[in-house]
Amino acid sequence: MPRRILNTLACIVLFWLGLAAGPVSAIDLDSGWEYRWGDSPFTAAGVPVWTLETPEQSADAWHAIGFPSNPPGRDGRENVWFRTVLPDGHWRDPVLYIFSVDLIVEVYVDGHKIYDYGQFDAHGKGHFEGWPWHMIALPEDSAGKPIYFRIFSNYMDIGLWGEVKLMERLELLRYILGNSIERLITSGFSLLIALLALVFALLRYEPRRFGAIALFALASGGMVLSGSQINLLLIDRALVWDYLGAGGYFLIPVAMALLLEDWLRPACSRLFKLIWRFHLLYLVGAIGLSAAGVVSLASTYPVFDALFALTLALLWTPVLRFWRRANSDQRAILSAYAIFSLLLLLDMAVAHSLLPWYQIPVAWGTLVFSMAIVTISLRHYSRTQDALKAMNRVLEERVCQRTAELEALATRETERARFLTLENRKRIEIEDLISALQDRRSLRESGPILGEALPRLCRPLGGAFYQFSTTEGVYQLKAHWGDPPPAVPSERIVSSQALDRREAPSELGQWCFEIGYQDPRQGEHILGCLWLHCPDDTPADHRLTWRRLIERGVERINLTLSTISLHETLSQLSYEDGLTGLKNRRFLDDALAREIDLAQRHNRPLSVLICDIDHFKHFNDTYGHEAGDTVIKTVAEHLTEVFRHTDIICRYGGEEFVIVLPGAPAEDGHQRAETLRTRVAALDLQHEGTTLGSITLSTGIASWPEMIADPSELLTRADQALYRAKQAGRNRVERAL
Ligand code: GH3
Ligand code: MG
Ligand code: MG
Repeated sequence: MPRRILNTLACIVLFWLGLAAGPVSAIDLDSGWEYRWGDSPFTAAGVPVWTLETPEQSADAWHAIGFPSNPPGRDGRENVWFRTVLPDGHWRDPVLYIFSVDLIVEVYVDGHKIYDYGQFDAHGKGHFEGWPWHMIALPEDSAGKPIYFRIFSNYMDIGLWGEVKLMERLELLRYILGNSIERLITSGFSLLIALLALVFALLRYEPRRFGAIALFALASGGMVLSGSQINLLLIDRALVWDYLGAGGYFLIPVAMALLLEDWLRPACSRLFKLIWRFHLLYLVGAIGLSAAGVVSLASTYPVFDALFALTLALLWTPVLRFWRRANSDQRAILSAYAIFSLLLLLDMAVAHSLLPWYQIPVAWGTLVFSMAIVTISLRHYSRTQDALKAMNRVLEERVCQRTAELEALATRETERARFLTLENRKRIEIEDLISALQDRRSLRESGPILGEALPRLCRPLGGAFYQFSTTEGVYQLKAHWGDPPPAVPSERIVSSQALDRREAPSELGQWCFEIGYQDPRQGEHILGCLWLHCPDDTPADHRLTWRRLIERGVERINLTLSTISLHETLSQLSYEDGLTGLKNRRFLDDALAREIDLAQRHNRPLSVLICDIDHFKHFNDTYGHEAGDTVIKTVAEHLTEVFRHTDIICRYGGEEFVIVLPGAPAEDGHQRAETLRTRVAALDLQHEGTTLGSITLSTGIASWPEMIADPSELLTRADQALYRAKQAGRNRVERAL
């Protein structure tokens, strides 16, 4: 079975053994050592001569030393030998354990080479091969015998390093395992943190900060792992592990400076940038040159140690100033850095023999750092959880609020749609009302139409309609509607001021609209007032819409009424004589035809009179045209007084008048004509203070069915009668023949 697999299996078994086992029994070889500068000559058989000499022969050449390392008076020498006597004892499988050797070694007992590490050339020189621990199997009979160590080192240290122990092989493996557990666990922890921090950095969550933390955890984890002695049992490549250790070690100041640069920005960023760049360059240079064989990896350590010590001083001076404003997380990491830096400095001091040899627990530094990161992460996690819960609560509240808003909006929209439908219906109703008013074209009929339509039109608003009494000058309540009925200004009668539109409390949703029209001759004519009340729960925008809607409706009603009024006036004007206010000839033409029809249908008499003022031309010529007009108007007034209001009195043209007397027989007509003639003849006419004297009238009368058989000839026959009255001397009444 290959040795590596065996070693692995042994490692796994011993892991548990190591955990369960008690203290390791071993003999420290820390006394009786001697050294001898230079290299031993070799016999032809390849045996070092110095191992063959008796103690007497070599007594002067060998010098006592406490521990076989860095003997005094090196003076640039690169070869040295050490020896000691192996203690007596009963060993089953004894091995010699050496913590480390600077740099390569051969071990001899009884002139036989029992172990070597590195390649000695013909001149006794060689190359750095790494700093592994060494396990030297001792021959069975070696107890009490001297053991020789041939050393070559062109490094600052020369000799064995750390500790040298004699123990059973199994004990050594347990010892190695015991030494390694701490480093394995802490480095594993550290590398895990490096991975997590890297993930955070890649997720772009404070990438620079987490990048620096990942780098530091990676560097310290790598360094601690490489220092674990059990590695060599798994991968027996000392130099590879040393490169890994060097890489991790040299990276530490880079990671520290990167993180501190971020925290202490911008004050010291230039210094820190310089530091991490410099150390990165050193790392690449040292590893690269060592790998290329230009320098020995071992020789890069002392230089780095010096630079690192200086770097720590440069880093920590501003950090101490920063401490006061650092938050608790930063302080935790800085504290871990401080402990780690201190341990590294102690390790450095041991390495350079400034302190006695002691295996500094650098792994604890990594552990402290890892613990700090874990604590911070847990605290952040719990804070994030709290923040998430709070955010969740806020979100839920917002969702509730939003839902309520949406529901309110939906209700408002439904309400709005309902209102729009209502508004639309009201518009149609207004249009219908306007059409109804226009169809009738009569102001007299408009009143009842409005009285019936307004309550329907204004619902669901409550309201009342007050009709204006022109004779009394007050508004009278005609109708009111609504459930409950609105508070109207007065039960029955209110003064016009109380209903003044300007005083209507519109802000309370109560409005008053005047309904009326423009009379072309008499100006504004008020029919009444529409008093409306909006229910209290009506939204403000609906109120406004209602108000505008009703306002526009009332405006349209008023406009329609004004149009009807204009129409009526125009129509009156076309049938009226402007001077006397009597009907004109056009009216007579229509009216006479209608009366003839009615008379025939009801078989009732119909009389027609034609009156003409005598010698009126002469009158005009004498007193002037205006005086003539006054006379015509005076005659017209007497006509309206003498005849009934059901009779049709027309100015037929000039100073001629026609009177149609429905239902009047000839005698009645004759009597009235006579009455008129005598009244007019008796007048003492005046015009602008001038006495005009008197005038006379001649009248012709025709009556159906007494005088004529065909009623359509009434006017012609009356005119013929008039002609005869003129002929007979005027101022008289003549009947048709
Ligand atoms: P006779 O007795 O035959 O009727 O005589 P006469 O002068 O009245 O005759 P005629 O009917 O020919 O004259 C009518 C006159 O009435 C002519 C015109 O000067 C006058 N006249 C007609 N219309 C008006 C009017 O509107 N105002 C005034 N001032 N005069 C009018
Ligand atoms: Mg005439
Ligand atoms: Mg005349």
